[in-house]
Formats: sequence, structure tokens, C-alpha cells
Amino acid sequence: MAKTPKAKPVGKKGPLKIAILSRNGKLYSTARLKEAAEARGHEVKVIDTLRCYMNIATDRPTIHYRGQNLDDFDAVIPRIGASITHYGLAVLRQFEMMGVLAVNGSVAVNRSRDKLRSMQLLSRRGIGLPVTGFAHSPDDIPDLLKMVGGAPLVIKLLEGTQGLGVVLADTRKAAESIIEAFISIEANIMVQEFIKEAEGADIRCFVVDGQVVASMRRQAPEGEFRSNLHRGGSAHSVKLTPAERNTALRAARIMGLNVAGVDILRSSNGPVVLEVNSSPGLKGIEKCTNADVAGAIIDFIEKKAASGRTKAEE
Ligand code: ADP
Repeated sequence: MAKTPKAKPVGKKGPLKIAILSRNGKLYSTARLKEAAEARGHEVKVIDTLRCYMNIATDRPTIHYRGQNLDDFDAVIPRIGASITHYGLAVLRQFEMMGVLAVNGSVAVNRSRDKLRSMQLLSRRGIGLPVTGFAHSPDDIPDLLKMVGGAPLVIKLLEGTQGLGVVLADTRKAAESIIEAFISIEANIMVQEFIKEAEGADIRCFVVDGQVVASMRRQAPEGEFRSNLHRGGSAHSVKLTPAERNTALRAARIMGLNVAGVDILRSSNGPVVLEVNSSPGLKGIEKCTNADVAGAIIDFIEKKAASGRTKAEE
């Protein structure tokens, strides 16, 4: 585990009460956030998102958890898994309605969970992206493939995570058959230009409060183009170019995320963003960079608390 510095003085408001919304307190990220907050003198409770229940139709919104009323938290750190996005966002919104500072707000988390919406937003603001297309009808596939520049192409399931459902099609024929197969099972997909020059590597930039606090380069194993650590990729600390840093910071800001994992590919036209993650994992990045990422997230909460801005923001 990365080292958390010894306790330092808390913000003006004194010790804070911080909730971590997470299904599993033993996960590295959850454990590190708890440790970093406690090292700074705060009280922390890990709350299983799916065990929260709420009274929403009242002028005094409340959240109950295993028979207790969760009514006195200053801040909440959402760590909401993709599979429970809908319920998790309802819980997070309820915290916001109670005036609790959310490290990432529900609107921003929701936005980041919709890959097409995120890419449309980033594209509108001039962030570099791989040429990407999507279509609904199988009849439009041949033209769609032409539109994105032809094979080789990457085909992605919109609901995929950790590299699952990301397929490289070397030829137009292969692309057509893969897309047909996905469409036949009613999967939502997008089709993307293959950034060959990235050479199986991507860059994860961990952004907290307008700073890149750590960055790593993930390299796919031999014969694989997906660099996800879950797919056997290896990670090393990396120095970002000013353009990469700027792209990561702008992407997080456009998405409205205070804490974000921005994934970038090095293309021959400069950095292109693959994804902006609102619950980025801490394990890989802290282990390979030795940066105290958890500490940076707690520092952000303290800063907000000290400035009296503990109310939820959009
Ligand atoms: P997931 O969200 O499931 O991780 P990604 O879109 O991040 O899916 O893709 C997984 C990995 O595949 C990326 O980390 C990257 O290494 C590789 N990859 C994805 N899209 C492309 C692309 N258009 N060109 C080259 N490599 C890509």
C-alpha cells in the first residue's frame, strides 16, 4: 500500500464525518480512502450502497442503513460499481438532497456512465477522440464502416468494462460479422478507428481537484492490444506531455468530475481520450507510482469543508 503521511491538521471545520459508498470495505481503494481519512483525524464509515434505503417523498430527506439514520455526514465518496449505477445514483442523490458534499456529484457520475453521451460532450468541446461511430440498424453498417475509415477497427460494447467486449477487427468482413453478431443479441455498440501507433499502451491520468496527481502507462501483453490490467497488462509510472496533462484536466472538467481517471491513447495526431472514469481504482496507480492518491482525495474534501462549501454542487 502507498504510504499515507502522519495525521496533519484538519480543515477549519475540525474532524469530518465521511461516508464511503462502497459494496466492499476490503477493496484496496475503499480501504485506502478509509485509512487516509482516519490518518487525518476524520471519522469514516463504509456504507454498502445496496443496503441504504430512503424516504424520498418528504421535506426532510433521510437515508437509513441497517436500522440507523444516516443524518450527520459532511461528505460522501461515491465508489459505485457499473452494475449498480441506477440504485447507487439514487442513494448519492439522496445524500446530496440532505446537503452532504459529494466528492463526485450524481449528475457528473451519471454523465460519465453513458459512453456515447460522454464522447459527444468531449467532442463538442474540442477534446481529441478516436474517430467513432454508432448505428442502430444492420442496414447501415457497411456505410458506418466506411464513415469511420474502414478496417482495422475496434468494436466496443457500450456496457463493457475492464476490456471485456472490446474487439479488434482486422478486416471489413470480420468487422461486419462481429457487428452482426452483437446486433443480433441486441447489444449496444460503437465502432472506432484503431489507434495502431499506441502499440497496445494507454495512459491513465488520475485527476483530483484540477491536478493530475498520478499517471501510469499500461502496456498490453504480447499479442494483445488491450492494456487493461485485468487483461494481463503491466503498468509503469509515466511523465505526461503538457498536451496530455491539459487534455486530462480538461476532460475531467468538462465531465464535471472532481475525481476522475482519464484514459488516453498516444495517437499520431496527439492525445485522444478513450474514457473518463468516475470511480477510478487506486490499487494499480498507487502501487506503480507510489503516489498518495487516497490522501489527495481526502485533502480535496478538507479544502471544500474548510471553505464552508460542503453543500452538494452540480
Ligand atoms: P474498457 O472501458 O472496457 O476498459 P476501453 O475502451 O478502455 O474499454 O478499451 C480497453 C483497452 O483497449 C484500452 O485500454 C486500450 O488499450 C485498447 N483500446 C481501446 N480502444 C482502442 C482504439 N480505438 N485503438 C487502440 N486501442 C484501443
